[in-house]
Amino acid sequence: TLRAAGRNVTVVEAVDRLLGRAVAPIIAAYVRQRLEAIGVRILTGTTVARLEGDSGRVSAAITSSGERLPAQMVIIGIGVVPNVELAEAAGIAVSNGIRVDQHMQSTIPEILAIGDAAAYRHWFTGGDVRLESVQNATDQARLAARTILGHAEPFTAVPWFWSDIGDMKLQMVGLTQGGDHHLVLGDLAENKFSIYHYAGDRLLGIESVNRPADHMLGRKMLGAGFSPTPQTVAGGPDALKAALAAFNEDELIRARA
Ligand SMILES: Cc1cc2nc3c(=O)[nH]c(=O)nc-3n(C[C@H](O)[C@H](O)[C@H](O)COP(=O)(O)OP(=O)(O)OC[C@H]3O[C@@H](n4cnc5c(N)ncnc54)[C@H](O)[C@@H]3O)c2cc1C
Repeated sequence: TLRAAGRNVTVVEAVDRLLGRAVAPIIAAYVRQRLEAIGVRILTGTTVARLEGDSGRVSAAITSSGERLPAQMVIIGIGVVPNVELAEAAGIAVSNGIRVDQHMQSTIPEILAIGDAAAYRHWFTGGDVRLESVQNATDQARLAARTILGHAEPFTAVPWFWSDIGDMKLQMVGLTQGGDHHLVLGDLAENKFSIYHYAGDRLLGIESVNRPADHMLGRKMLGAGFSPTPQTVAGGPDALKAALAAFNEDELIRARA
């Protein structure tokens, strides 16, 4: 948006790629190439060492490599660190956030934590996560309320997230860490595609660019616990819808049996 308004934009990123905590390397590389094509300068493996200013206004950012980037505005987007001091003082276990179980209960069960501050073992990947998204916070809030009301239901929401970057509507569902291969539906050249990430034969997540229908279908598939084969994915949305419908029908029959 700033670029479209004719501003010179430089992105300074500490690690060696963009969106390191959010998307798989293939999408990060795609976003980088697309932003560079419209003139955004991207410096990876670089940090801002200090800011310079005149009369209370910023005038430049000095990078860790000593480059001076003249600037009228600096936008700092470097994530958050959870405030865990209160929990720690109360004797609650803390590790990259307040540790909670699948019912959102901390190590002191009468104290629950949700959202950006809560770290937990994710049912979907088996790994420890602390997710920063509206969907995660609101799904956990609903579950925490049910826990307080005495329902012992586990947290089984499928994580999803979105972001609009330039002309890319980026939508992610699932968690793709640990993926060992992927499949592409659509066309990168047309800026409309989805990447299906697999670990072995299990679908871990889908990252879509300008293919919202793939994202919505992905939420239904992962929410139902359905992992389509790569062959079905290659058959496109109609094949996936049919396979999901058949899976749901089988589940219904199994539940009735
Ligand atoms: C700039 C920005 C853009 C974002 N964009 C998106 C997006 O596009 N999509 C998306 O899904 N997510 C987005 N997020 C993330 C999303 O906003 C957070 O994941 C979500 O708000 C987390 O909800 P939460 O309730 O855990 O925490 P918060 O929304 O941070 O709420 C915590 C509240 O607790 C209060 N508090 C803290 N300590 C205490 C205390 N001791 N006593 C009482 N109150 C206390 C705080 O003041 C705060 O109001 C964005 C975040 C930022 C900062």
